[in-house]
Amino acid sequence: MRNRDAEQSGGTAAAGVIYLVATPLGNLEDITLRALRILGEVSLIACEDTRRTGRLLQHFRISKPLVSCHDHNEARRATELAERAAAGESIALVSDAGTPLIADPGYRVVQAAIDRGVRVVPVPGPSAAVAALSVSGLPSHDFAFKGFLPSKGAKRRAAIRSLERSDSSTVFYEAPHRILAAVADTCELLGGSRRIAIARELTKLHEEVLRGPAATVFESLSCRPSQKGEFVLVIGPRDDRKAALGEDGSGSTTATPSSAPDA
Ligand code: SAM
Repeated sequence: MRNRDAEQSGGTAAAGVIYLVATPLGNLEDITLRALRILGEVSLIACEDTRRTGRLLQHFRISKPLVSCHDHNEARRATELAERAAAGESIALVSDAGTPLIADPGYRVVQAAIDRGVRVVPVPGPSAAVAALSVSGLPSHDFAFKGFLPSKGAKRRAAIRSLERSDSSTVFYEAPHRILAAVADTCELLGGSRRIAIARELTKLHEEVLRGPAATVFESLSCRPSQKGEFVLVIGPRDDRKAALGEDGSGSTTATPSSAPDA
């Protein structure tokens, strides 16, 4: 099958384009063939952390000029990158892991590109939110992604409380030192029987998924001396309360840790 970039540019990344390139969350095998080709063909790669992306590129034997584009310089960089693309350069934007713009920098770059009529092309791949939802065991046909839960207690509680009557699954990113508090708030505000899932260290050595009623997941987590790694919290819809109690209403559902990844 012919691809659009190849059609437009004889097999090399098209000039005057900004590519949004997803990179692995942990397991380097998750990089796509297209991501590797585009990263190898563009004239410039904008990334959050040049050292981190440098290591990724080195692993794949790709050598390209890198410029930083992170939360603190994105406004300035956006104009610069869009203007360079408008002048004919092909540029890839990556984040530290996963899909750029998904709780990561890049929105301003895309806006600046669109404003200047520069073509923006997605090179899709991993994202922790979608990976977590897919393994959560919670309804996935209708979901909301809310980025990071607010770090302050009152705002976090308000965000969780707002899901009381939600008919969708809701996906949050959460820091390891706050995950237990977030699950405790879920128990208190939405009830201990609300079904949730916690996906930790996806695609990495210590990958784990805890699923079940919030109270059971809280119990499993709170037994640990500390919470380590990267976490996604998925809170199921209110209608799952009945399912969480089990068909016989006995409340026998338990938190089920999943196995580690196969590679
Ligand atoms: N752009 C990324 C994406 O597409 O998933 C997300 C970047 S955001 C700054 C980082 C957060 O994503 C982490 O704090 C964690 O909540 C989640 N995350 C990233 N990698 C993860 C992993 N391997 N397992 C679980 N959660 C992960």
